[in-house]
Amino acid sequence: MTNKKVIVIGAGLGGLTAAIKAAKTGCEVVVYEKNDKPGGKAGTVEVDGFRFDSGPTLLTMPFVIENLFKDCGKNIEEYLKLKPLDQSCKYFYPDGTIINAYSDTAKFAAEIEKKTHDKADDVYRFLDYSKDIYDLTADLFLFSQFRGVKSFLNGKALKTLFNLRKIDTSRSMDEAIRSFFKDGRVVQLFNRYATYNGSNPYEAPATLNIIPHVEHNLGAFVPEGGIKSIPEALYKLALELGVSFHFNSVVERIYYKNKKIFSVHVNKHDQFCNAVICNSDVFYAYRNLINLPGSRQKKVHDDDFSSSALVFYWGVKGKHEELGVHNILFSENYYQEFVDIFDRKVTPLDPTTYIYISSKYNTGDAPAGCENWYVMVNAPFNYNQPWKREAEEIREEILLKIERTLNINLRDKIVSERILTPDLIEEQTFSFRGSLYGMSSNGRYNAFLRQRNRSKEVAGLYFCGGSAHPGGGMPLVVLSGMHAADALTEDFNRGLI
Ligand SMILES: Cc1cc2nc3c(=O)[nH]c(=O)nc-3n(C[C@H](O)[C@H](O)[C@H](O)COP(=O)(O)OP(=O)(O)OC[C@H]3O[C@@H](n4cnc5c(N)ncnc54)[C@H](O)[C@@H]3O)c2cc1C
Repeated sequence: MTNKKVIVIGAGLGGLTAAIKAAKTGCEVVVYEKNDKPGGKAGTVEVDGFRFDSGPTLLTMPFVIENLFKDCGKNIEEYLKLKPLDQSCKYFYPDGTIINAYSDTAKFAAEIEKKTHDKADDVYRFLDYSKDIYDLTADLFLFSQFRGVKSFLNGKALKTLFNLRKIDTSRSMDEAIRSFFKDGRVVQLFNRYATYNGSNPYEAPATLNIIPHVEHNLGAFVPEGGIKSIPEALYKLALELGVSFHFNSVVERIYYKNKKIFSVHVNKHDQFCNAVICNSDVFYAYRNLINLPGSRQKKVHDDDFSSSALVFYWGVKGKHEELGVHNILFSENYYQEFVDIFDRKVTPLDPTTYIYISSKYNTGDAPAGCENWYVMVNAPFNYNQPWKREAEEIREEILLKIERTLNINLRDKIVSERILTPDLIEEQTFSFRGSLYGMSSNGRYNAFLRQRNRSKEVAGLYFCGGSAHPGGGMPLVVLSGMHAADALTEDFNRGLI
């Protein structure tokens, strides 16, 4: 496929993956990225000697990235070292309960039995149910491009259709979880997985209960050097494969002629190409980059977007042994949090608070005697709320919560600070409304409404990233980049572009 020129818009994890795969097949690949470095949401914040992963903090399904390197004939170990965590999270509840989510399932199940009114066997039963959903859906919905009805025309897919009851589409996540557990603390722990793709556990279909299998059975990982090592590794591989990058370059327009991709407008010039892989958020792209009047994505309802986040990057004096790498301080009223985020579109006043301290495994991330606290709460997507004021209010609530739950007076210990709000997420990565994962999965059929990796309207146009199939989160956007490049290769081979 030499002489075929492919332009990739955006160097997020999806765009980097697509560029790698397209270059591997022999295309000339050029990436335009509006920021000054690759990574998109998987970025880094450096301030006063502290380093923070700016967005994602926990990697699941590491084999997806491993396979990308394998497909390119490379040994991932030479680029990226992924370490399994002994404990994926430490959960703190308002009543003083602490649950350690050990990666070892037997230890985790024993912990649930010891600290709650549920039994270890309930955990095993639930994780088996979660695995069943994965086994029935992963090949069809994650590891393949979604091709509509055609996707169902094979033996494995038909098996999934015949087992619709098992993939649990008609209950909500919460309803299904309550059928396994009676203790509210355990229900809250498993409901939290809805937030892994920015959804509401009280509305999202129980099929999303696939996520506990991914984290508890397949494992939770962090890379040596922090999450930033992932985009760095992909960038290095892309360069080795001959991909060229232009940073500080905003693509302003995608042009097509006779329903075929023609060029993109960037840096005041039209760049001609045979194909475009768009890693820019699809809702942004349909509104700003390409004029496709009938496109369904243009019509997606405004309320269908996933949640966003408020993140405080705090350089903190002292070491806090009571905390692990990943910690959750739960709220009293979890249901109300999702009403606030999705219905009232305000940041909850008693938000479940996530604390990630990468300096616990990557000591260089904080000066001696200090820690880097990444403190995040779920927030509604950007509706032009007064974010500065909202962040100030929530900051106070979080400090009080940390004092109440952990008995730590953080006020005097914070030596440096940066804040990320949904409007900044939108500005920095062009994510529509600053939502983290494109469309939410709150509706039963939302998964089917995601942008497919191949445009139905224009030949030579492909989509990858969190707002395209199969969705948001690091492993899924890497899969989306692979699917987009695979679709491109198929079309080249069939002479369609
Ligand atoms: C606070 C936060 C916490 C998260 N936590 C986790 C987690 O723990 N685990 C997990 O797996 N995932 C997590 N995620 C989600 C994960 O970060 C994303 O799903 C993933 O990184 C998105 O990758 P992407 O390929 O969709 O592109 P993005 O990261 O959105 O990158 C798109 C890139 O395209 C560029 N771009 C867009 N438009 C243009 C244009 N017109 N011209 C040029 N360049 C353009 C942007 O600048 C950007 O660099 C989190 C995200 C955030 C923000």
